[in-house]
Amino acid sequence: MSEKSKLQGMLSAKCPVCKTGDMFPVSVVSYRKLTDVNPVCSHCEANLMPEPDFYYGAMYISYAFSVALFVAVGVALYVIHGDPETWMYLTAVVVSNILLLPLMLRYSKVLYLYAWSGSLYKKKRR
Ligand SMILES: [Zn+2]
Repeated sequence: MSEKSKLQGMLSAKCPVCKTGDMFPVSVVSYRKLTDVNPVCSHCEANLMPEPDFYYGAMYISYAFSVALFVAVGVALYVIHGDPETWMYLTAVVVSNILLLPLMLRYSKVLYLYAWSGSLYKKKRR
């Protein structure tokens, strides 16, 4: 079995240590248990919840995703429809945010955990 890269692990929302165990108990297309993260990796038993409220910092990443989506949808509508009315902008932004909410919440937590993984899961050196 080949070792997965960090990018593959992030894209598939796997444990940052072994890149095999799932970080989340449910599928990404599920709106159930949106905020749940497995407390430990099912494969290597790495602690995926290093401290209480660890994932609060992920809300900043989630906010950045929302702003990026807002800008992308706005620019796309402007290019496609040539400056439509305000209600069209608002509807498109709200609908796209609701549809992509599970994805944005999940990947904000994945990015946050992977960003801290260097100091959380130090490799043992000989
Ligand atoms: Zn693991």
